[in-house]
Amino acid sequence: MEIFQVNYSDGKTSRLYPAEVEFTPRALVISYLNEGVRQEVSWDIDRINTNKFGFSFEHKITYGDFPAETIEVDEDFFNQFQEQYPHVRLTNKSIHYIKKRTWRTIVFSFLGIVAFALLLYFWVVPAIADRAAQSIPISYEQQMGEKIYKQNLLEFDIDSARTKLVNEYFQTLHVKSRYPVQITVVHCDEVNAFAIPGGHIVVFSGLLNQMRNHEELAGVLSHEYAHVYYRHSLRAMARGLANYAVISFVIGDVSGITSMMVANADNIRSLQYSRELESQADDFGFKLMQQKGVNPAGMIWLFQNLTEANKEKKEKKILKVSVPEFMSTHPYTKHRIEAMKELLKKDRHVYKEDERQQVIWGLIKKENAIDK
Ligand SMILES: [Zn+2]
Repeated sequence: MEIFQVNYSDGKTSRLYPAEVEFTPRALVISYLNEGVRQEVSWDIDRINTNKFGFSFEHKITYGDFPAETIEVDEDFFNQFQEQYPHVRLTNKSIHYIKKRTWRTIVFSFLGIVAFALLLYFWVVPAIADRAAQSIPISYEQQMGEKIYKQNLLEFDIDSARTKLVNEYFQTLHVKSRYPVQITVVHCDEVNAFAIPGGHIVVFSGLLNQMRNHEELAGVLSHEYAHVYYRHSLRAMARGLANYAVISFVIGDVSGITSMMVANADNIRSLQYSRELESQADDFGFKLMQQKGVNPAGMIWLFQNLTEANKEKKEKKILKVSVPEFMSTHPYTKHRIEAMKELLKKDRHVYKEDERQQVIWGLIKKENAIDK
């Protein structure tokens, strides 16, 4: 009778004993040395756990209930065992090996697919959507912007007096732009403003009413203008409709995505830009004000002013506390104010009051007073 060398575990500890196994007609006789004393156990052939064979990475045969005894065996042992006890069918390890592999393959493929999908969803699709937005010609963007503007304005009453004044104010900044910038003031208590692709900027009367000086107005306008200039609103809309954007980019037809954007025109008012885009708009707005001789501290004043107003509203338990678009990146507003304060520290410009701006601002304030 052949003797096989195996590793044996009694199941009570993790210790493995080098052991010898002898095949006898009704049992496997396993003998090993424990602290120098020879031990012998006998496994009744019919009580061997056939179904548990091969379930781990080693080839183990187990015996008895928990804690089960175990022997680790090799291929020769396995073949000899089957020859000796043909009525005891150990599950074939090669099959298990394939099964294990298959199982692992399935898990890894699944994880791979998930990772790939996440990558697509969070990186590739937005990147392509962004490219799609960038590839839209300005003329298309303007046509589309016009439609989005009209659709949004259906809900509002235009404040024509302040619309005229705010446009005049913007003109004093002499911004040279590839976009014809057109500002519309609408009657709405909400403290908000938003930019539409192609050059429209909508300012709510609620926001104007909160302002204390014209530098704050310049701050809002230059910030929103930055969103137009960098096509932020166009890109954010394209991302919101990423699937359409990707399809239209792939088939090289931008009309699909532009018509989808028009169909989703209402989204423009609640668009949220990433922190990066907001910082870019702050930076651009700040520099624009510097260049145009308007004290860029106005941007900071505006932030502080609106933060205070929001706090007051909260204290008075006015439930509808609106967060204007340019302050929508909570909790980063603090960081943005800090960043602008840093810019202001380095600012060596001397700002003189522009008479024209003063006059226009005076008229806007008069209208604000009527509105309040
Ligand atoms: Zn913004």
